[in-house]
Amino acid sequence: MQFDVVIVGAGHGGAQVAVMLRTQKFTGTIAIIGEEPELPYERPPLSKEYFAGEKEFERIQLRPAKYWDEREVAMLLGRRVVSVDPAAHIVTTDGGETIGYGKLVWATGGAPRMLPVPGGDLPGVQGVRTRADADAMKAASETAKQIVVIGGGYIGLEAAAVLTKAGKKVVLLEAQDRVLARVAGEDLSRFYEREHREHGVDLRLGVCVEAIEGDDHVTGVRLSDGEVIAADLVIVGIGIVPAIEPLVAAGADCANGVRVDPLCKTSLTDVYAIGDCAAHANEFAEGAEIRLESVQNANDQANVVAKGIVGDEAPYHAIPWFWSNQYDLKLQTAGLSTGHDQAVLRGDPATRNFSVVYLKAGKVIAIDCVNRAKDYVQGRMIVTAGLRATAEQLADTETPLKALLPA
Ligand SMILES: Cc1cc2nc3c(=O)[nH]c(=O)nc-3n(C[C@H](O)[C@H](O)[C@H](O)COP(=O)(O)OP(=O)(O)OC[C@H]3O[C@@H](n4cnc5c(N)ncnc54)[C@H](O)[C@@H]3O)c2cc1C
Repeated sequence: MQFDVVIVGAGHGGAQVAVMLRTQKFTGTIAIIGEEPELPYERPPLSKEYFAGEKEFERIQLRPAKYWDEREVAMLLGRRVVSVDPAAHIVTTDGGETIGYGKLVWATGGAPRMLPVPGGDLPGVQGVRTRADADAMKAASETAKQIVVIGGGYIGLEAAAVLTKAGKKVVLLEAQDRVLARVAGEDLSRFYEREHREHGVDLRLGVCVEAIEGDDHVTGVRLSDGEVIAADLVIVGIGIVPAIEPLVAAGADCANGVRVDPLCKTSLTDVYAIGDCAAHANEFAEGAEIRLESVQNANDQANVVAKGIVGDEAPYHAIPWFWSNQYDLKLQTAGLSTGHDQAVLRGDPATRNFSVVYLKAGKVIAIDCVNRAKDYVQGRMIVTAGLRATAEQLADTETPLKALLPA
């Protein structure tokens, strides 16, 4: 088998590369190799509507099967790429197939990071990344009496919200002294902590998990102070490990992810990398090398690659954005708040309708909006513009954010 473009990973980024190549009238052959058996689907609903049983799987597929057939995108599913020969331009799958490429796009995301503690791999301990994970989590939660969620990031909080709404007893454990510590400021963390507690989640902060207990199935979670919390299902949401081993073995420059340049090219000739597995210098992080785990980043980097392949090269330059749904709260974020030195509240969290604007050295770098779509839309504009404004101006809910932009 030989294709002009081989995409490894049938997720958000991989699918979008193929979509954009065909949109750009690319007439060469394209194959997507994916480890999961499914056609590309949306991952965010796995901890939201799909997990809650509000959306069927068919409704979260990115495109129907017909779309890929009509555009002649070969879907080589249920196969894992285990090695890359960059000199010969060949990848090999776990079934021993060799597939030749003209250009290779590595879009493999990552595997859920699991707890490196005794019992961390017991049955009943569940990470959340794939449809199979969400199905297993859903099935186990139906009979579970008490569920422990480890990790107060977006995925853990979303899972806790779905389970609590379904009437389950949930204990959520977070090692830091606040939830969302990696991605948001303290106002937002405290708001979500209150919400979860009011909805009945037993939220514990600053706790350290020492072991998962059980013989052939999880029965509890032991904390460093000796307390054992009973559990018949443990959901782990503590981040991912980028799936890059074959590229590391092939000699690609890698750090926390595969290193890519602004055109998403790796250090290997004709090999690109995008999405959750790609470490890139992001201008909204002041050029720091980061991996962004978001649909926005996967899609926008996919577009950079597809355009580059058809000869329309333009560097990656997209404002990061993200969303999270918990209970009836819609959080929308733009920019990256890491490193902020000032956080301005816009509106009152008690009304469940407010924003937090983040500044660094007087410049707006990010905004988090809760049930406040207008602020989000206009917030993207002020973050993109790198607006300089006072806390007083930003806090004034009578003034639309876009009115602060120079005419
Ligand atoms: C539960 C959950 C909720 C989320 N919620 C949000 C949200 O609300 N908003 C948001 O912006 N983002 C959210 N995200 C993150 C978002 O889904 C990811 O950032 C996005 O999927 C990244 O796309 P990707 O193409 O890099 O990787 P993925 O979509 O993960 O696709 C990678 C694919 O590659 C496959 N693969 C891996 N290794 C190999 C190999 N060697 N050979 C072949 N195939 C391989 C994997 O099986 C997978 O199917 C969420 C993620 C999860 C898991």
